[in-house]
Amino acid sequence: MSAAVDGELTLNEQEGFEKHIMKCPTCFSEFKEAQKTKSIIKEKITRFKAPQSLVNSILKLTETPL
Ligand SMILES: [Zn+2]
Repeated sequence: MSAAVDGELTLNEQEGFEKHIMKCPTCFSEFKEAQKTKSIIKEKITRFKAPQSLVNSILKLTETPL
């Protein structure tokens, strides 16, 4: 799930994932939620100008296993 949010999927994976969430409301809302959470955190971190290593470790905490 987090790979999908980060856009780290391969083209094939991305395609399969998108097809799946179109038919699966559960995964779709999970994906949207994860995206929202991530962008909020990123925005907060950017505002405080945290070092990249800290940013990465915080983002890791937000990752949810698929
Ligand atoms: Zn699903």
